[in-house]
Amino acid sequence: MPAENNYKEQIGKLIGLQQVDSKIYDLASEKESFPERLSVFDQTLDQKKAGVKNSEEALKQLQVKKNEKDVDMQAKEEKIKKLQSNLYQIKNNKEYQAIQQEIDSIKADVSLIEEDIIALFDKIEQAQEAMAHEKHIFDEEKKKVETEKEKIKSEEKKIDSELAELKAERDKALEGVSDEILKRYDAILKNKGRTALAKLTGGICGECHMSLRSQVINDVKLRKNLIFCENCARILYDED
Ligand SMILES: [Zn+2]
Repeated sequence: MPAENNYKEQIGKLIGLQQVDSKIYDLASEKESFPERLSVFDQTLDQKKAGVKNSEEALKQLQVKKNEKDVDMQAKEEKIKKLQSNLYQIKNNKEYQAIQQEIDSIKADVSLIEEDIIALFDKIEQAQEAMAHEKHIFDEEKKKVETEKEKIKSEEKKIDSELAELKAERDKALEGVSDEILKRYDAILKNKGRTALAKLTGGICGECHMSLRSQVINDVKLRKNLIFCENCARILYDED
């Protein structure tokens, strides 16, 4: 059983150690969140990329449609020319009329196709604008993502150097802590993450906020042995 002075010294050292460990925990947790944050950026960027691809595909389909109409119209115009040149060789009136009718019918088709082509021109123009818009959105997002990624990278560098400093601080804070106490402290810290100590305030554990039995409170105030919270198992200490 450590003497009172020894107890006070050990608790004092543990409080110093915990301050360092809490900082280490916070920084390490922040660093752990980086890969997830980076992947969210990539997902957003992928979505915008899909928007560009869809708009390109829509434009392509319209262009294919228009090309088909162009080809169709050319074929029909050639057919008209051919029929018109045939007309000169025909002497029979009935046959002449039949061919003339066929020409008129094809001409009507051609004018419908022309209307379709004009409508497609409008649609293609709209699709080009939509595609340019999607590309703009993607470019802006890409710039944003690159900036954010750079920020995270430099944050990570900063955290790494802070962690290196804190590890040196921790080594210093460990000096003079008894091996047995350190073992218990480390075990609690490993289990709890951020804190292994809990301040006793007004009869309540400062970490898990459970009301403590008066026996436990008295034992903590005696400052002779390590006393643990019966709920969260952290090492309790009182003020001063
Ligand atoms: Zn507790």
